[in-house]
Amino acid sequence: MSDCLFCRIVSGAIPSKKIAEDDATFAFEDIAPRAPTHILIVPKQHVSTMADASDEALAGGLLLAAARIARDRGLESYRLVINNGEGAGQTVFHLHVHLMGGRSFSWPPG
Ligand code: AMP
Ligand code: ZN
Repeated sequence: MSDCLFCRIVSGAIPSKKIAEDDATFAFEDIAPRAPTHILIVPKQHVSTMADASDEALAGGLLLAAARIARDRGLESYRLVINNGEGAGQTVFHLHVHLMGGRSFSWPPG
């Protein structure tokens, strides 16, 4: 989608600090980190929300990519977050997993 921020990041039209990529996923640093490690993992294919995701390989691949990045960075404790919909805090409507680590987290999230 040409007007989607994260599609433009995946294509390279908008610069990002790339962390990793594979056939189906792209990972980059969050521009406004909420933790010492704050990385976004997105599908290369445009999917707006988790509720719109229907491809099991795509959804599973996002989580496994996040876990791989965490392992590569030696993070033992980390949090993965998917905000689905405005009420949950989603502001960019291209599905993404937040990988956050390097600090402690409270539960439940606010
Ligand atoms: P969410 O609120 O779950 O939709 O998360 C969107 C995230 O995208 C936020 O944490 C933003 O800081 C992040 N973000 C917005 N624009 C950019 C950008 N150009 N590059 C990297 N991260 C971004
Ligand atoms: Zn998109």
